[in-house]
Amino acid sequence: MPIATVNPANGETIKNYDALSEEEIERRLATAESTFRTYRTSSFDERARLLRRAAGLLDEDTESVARVMTTEMGKPVRQARAEAAKCAKAMRWYADHAAELLADEEPDESDVKDSGALRVLVRYRPLGPVLAVMPWNFPLWQVIRFAAPALMAGNVGLLKHASNVPGTALYLEDLFHRAGFPEGCFQTLLIGSGAVERVLRDPRVRAATLTGSEPAGRSVASVAGDAVKKTVLELGGSDPYIVMPSADIDRAARIAVIARVQNTGQSCIAAKRFIVHTDVFDAFTEGFTEGMKALKVGDPMEEETDIGPLAGKQGRRDLEELVVDAVESGATVLCGGVRAEGPGWYYPPTVLTDVTPEMRIHHEEAFGPVATLYRVADLDEAVAAANDSPFGLSSNVWTRDGTEVDRFVRDLEAGSVYVNGMTASHPAFPFGGAKRSGYGRELSGHGIREFCNITTVWHG
Ligand code: NDP
Repeated sequence: MPIATVNPANGETIKNYDALSEEEIERRLATAESTFRTYRTSSFDERARLLRRAAGLLDEDTESVARVMTTEMGKPVRQARAEAAKCAKAMRWYADHAAELLADEEPDESDVKDSGALRVLVRYRPLGPVLAVMPWNFPLWQVIRFAAPALMAGNVGLLKHASNVPGTALYLEDLFHRAGFPEGCFQTLLIGSGAVERVLRDPRVRAATLTGSEPAGRSVASVAGDAVKKTVLELGGSDPYIVMPSADIDRAARIAVIARVQNTGQSCIAAKRFIVHTDVFDAFTEGFTEGMKALKVGDPMEEETDIGPLAGKQGRRDLEELVVDAVESGATVLCGGVRAEGPGWYYPPTVLTDVTPEMRIHHEEAFGPVATLYRVADLDEAVAAANDSPFGLSSNVWTRDGTEVDRFVRDLEAGSVYVNGMTASHPAFPFGGAKRSGYGRELSGHGIREFCNITTVWHG
């Protein structure tokens, strides 16, 4: 895949980039290591000062960087601005909280005594250069979600961004540079996925985090496993959105539309499988399908646009194949299902029902504005349908019955359960998946501690 900015709204190549030479990769790895040796000794206050400055610069740059993102991957520009604001908020959150999250811990006095020590401390020390392999769908947020805690912990970052968002990748390097972070604290490596193994195996790189597809995660995790390096993986999702009879059905249907089509449906935590109790199936289906039909598909630079083009030609082909496969095997199309001719990689909001386990879409991630609807008879069926997926990222349940809530929280195989609302990440809450959605956590105290050397200090 060439490293290039190609506008998904019309397919035009705007700029091609050369991949880094071997010498340049080597120079950047050496810089990362030498910077780490001094940066690791900086204080939390100093790191926080720099990160707050980066957040301020990002606020000032919102309009321009939003347009870069929209040009590179097609998200509606309103959503791109919101993404930039969310990044600035996460940076400030980690600037405010990292010192407390990584403060020394003292084990119970009785355990200290039992070990024969006078004093024991647990200290969170940084690991070193961390490689971040990142996707194009939230080209700023996915990176900041890694970078803000990593930099606050005293690590340094090496970003291998998706090949279709080089402009955003270079913007991020420049942002941290302008904020005053020492050269080498955050570097963008313009390299293809084929060069990742070489970087990951380098002894100066201590760990890796990847957000993306399952094959990419498997590949990075196996190299890292072979080299005995820690990884955090945030892979795909096919989140259930369960609606029970006691729910506010109008609200559930309205939010379901947003939960499915945010980022033109290209979100790992988008609700993808709508599992609806038979008593409210018709009412929900009507409200949801009407909402999907009413969305405005068009130029992502326009303020009123809800759905832009998909980010890539291959992504649209993959999505279309899932829909064709389902329809040929008996799925019913309630809206959409056929892409319009014309320039740009557009795909219409689509709702499918009568979906069965033989269809690919039942088990695979639909990375675009395509929803599947399932009718269930009771709570047991709802739980079973929700868990009938190789993925386990997040889940959404709509009910006003406390017993049902307890049951969902106990039994849903997912990294989070959102009750009467849609999944949305927040810097203070852990984020990550179960099953083939990956492992490890991002955000919150859990996220910042993933890439720390958790050190026991024993005093006799
Ligand atoms: P990929 O997983 O291929 O790309 C994500 C990142 O991983 C990119 O930086 C990519 O680099 C890199 N990469 C890909 N393969 C390897 C490899 N073997 N070794 C090392 N790095 C690798 O995503 P796609 O763009 O191809 O999307 C395919 C599907 O993945 C989507 O349809 C969706 O299902 C899922 N996906 C999930 C995301 C999420 O948020 N969890 C985000 C994006 C995709 P390069 O661009 O150079 O190939």
